[in-house]
Amino acid sequence: MFLKRCEYPGVTIDELYLGAIITVYARQLKVVDYGDVFTRKQFECKRSRTLAIIKPDAYAHIGKIIDAIYKNEFTINKMKMLKWSPEQAQGFYAEHKGKPFFDSLVAFMSGDVIVAMELVADRAVEKWRELIGPTNSLTARSSAPNSLRALFGTDGSKNAVHGSDSSKRLCMESDRRFCPARDRLRIL
Ligand code: ADP
Ligand code: MG
Repeated sequence: MFLKRCEYPGVTIDELYLGAIITVYARQLKVVDYGDVFTRKQFECKRSRTLAIIKPDAYAHIGKIIDAIYKNEFTINKMKMLKWSPEQAQGFYAEHKGKPFFDSLVAFMSGDVIVAMELVADRAVEKWRELIGPTNSLTARSSAPNSLRALFGTDGSKNAVHGSDSSKRLCMESDRRFCPARDRLRIL
């Protein structure tokens, strides 16, 4: 294909991130990589991604949670409703294996459907963690009453939403074993 460098005002900088699909002169293009190291560095410190999951106890609040996601200026790049097998839930939470709550956490997370989302924003990992609040929903209700876990969570285990806590965890959590629709939900 012949490519020519030119301005294209129809696409804004916010629409450019890995995985985005943009339309340029009536052609749909998918952003699959950065042109060079300089561009990667510039973009990675701006638009980053995280994995968010709406847990089974918040099934009735999916609409309100998505509303909060948009109000807080995240873009939902990918979204999929899925149901984990107990093995998938065990793998996802492998870091907690051996802890007293592990078995009930696995039963909870594989007991009903979840909604997995790839969210895009500036500082996405940290920003999503701030919005969901502390791990324990009961603590969240006193220390961060407007957080999603305070508003929609049940207790210390059933806490409405998941968020990756670092980009390293994000890498592992985005593994296609946990998000089987690989093309639709693979993050890295
Ligand atoms: P977070 O989800 O905030 O990153 P952790 O990674 O520490 O928290 O724990 C993973 C999940 O395990 C929590 O979201 C919660 O569902 C459950 N969990 C964590 N700690 C406890 C606990 N003490 N008792 C019951 N469930 C817990
Ligand atoms: Mg965690």
